[in-house]
Amino acid sequence: MTTIGDQQLVRRINRSVLLRLLRARPGLSRARLAAESGLTKSTVSLLVRELLEDGWLDEAGAAVADGLGRPSIPLQINDGVRALIGVEIAVEVVRVACVSLLGEVLHSESQPLHEHAPRAVCAQVARMVSAAHRHLLASGLRLSGIGVGVPGAVDDATGLVRFAPNFGWRSVSLLPELTEALAAVGVAGVNVQLQNDADAAALGEFEFSEGEGEDPLIFVSCDVGVGAGIVLNDRLFVGARGMAGEIGHTILQVDGPLCSCGRKGCAEAFLGSRVLERAANDAERAAAFLGVLLQNLWVTFEPRAIVVGGKSCQAHPAFLRRAIQTVQRYAESAGMPAPNVRGARFGEWAPAVGAAALALHEYLRPLHPNSEARRERAVRQLQSA
Ligand SMILES: [Zn+2]
Repeated sequence: MTTIGDQQLVRRINRSVLLRLLRARPGLSRARLAAESGLTKSTVSLLVRELLEDGWLDEAGAAVADGLGRPSIPLQINDGVRALIGVEIAVEVVRVACVSLLGEVLHSESQPLHEHAPRAVCAQVARMVSAAHRHLLASGLRLSGIGVGVPGAVDDATGLVRFAPNFGWRSVSLLPELTEALAAVGVAGVNVQLQNDADAAALGEFEFSEGEGEDPLIFVSCDVGVGAGIVLNDRLFVGARGMAGEIGHTILQVDGPLCSCGRKGCAEAFLGSRVLERAANDAERAAAFLGVLLQNLWVTFEPRAIVVGGKSCQAHPAFLRRAIQTVQRYAESAGMPAPNVRGARFGEWAPAVGAAALALHEYLRPLHPNSEARRERAVRQLQSA
């Protein structure tokens, strides 16, 4: 038996299919969307009307021939009605960006972060988001979602930060506290997503790419901490408990220098931005270690792209260049084509813009098999459909 809830889920999935097609290939007509999605023309017409009314889509000019019969009107994602807010809570700074549905940064602000107590962090984020929200409203835009990236392991179903060593956080229920702080400054009723910062940055590179996103894609963040976000099969791969991608603690040298985690010879002990600041003349060695790290990721995942960002790359422009040379030399030695490794498209704003992509991702991919709770819920809903 089909219930109202199932119908809504199916409609949401179908809407997301159309949005994804139009994000990758703007200008498709209703008839072309039906042909590409496998949905009936009448379903597509109905959903497109809804998406036009809700401000997700708009019509891109006059009707043109699309090779499927009568001339039809090209459709595109509407970036003039809705917008997103992305937040990065970094160890030393909070960054807030207003981002269009197409990944254009409309407004941005950063402030130093002095206090690491969760309540103080949430209050500061709420104040900054409130200011960004006012900016959106003044531009006539509607806030459609808030994403927040933090440097730690996150359970995205419950909004729990399991572990954020550079903040001294363990099992901090950050999302509920943040939602409360946002409500206190008048930002309520908006979907808020929490994720690890490198995961968010990976999603930003994936969702806001031109055309189809590169998949698999790995974002390597070399900041105070070193971590990676992995997009695999159209989704974030976060592991069983949200800890996947903690590549800062892969061991690059047996009995190497002591790491903040207590182990010796971790990647972070060579590449972390604070380590680089202390030993600036050792940047060449650090770049070689980054090259080794990238090489190991490459052979493990064979990604279409590895994107590298974070403070270490911003502060030392030669750092990534040398690391890429190292990876290229490994490829040459093995007679393989050079891997696709590049710098972050949004520079130091990658995690904040990526956090905005997180909010968008919720609409474009409504089923998250990564998260146990979401998966169980979705399976129950689909079984009864
Ligand atoms: Zn470590």
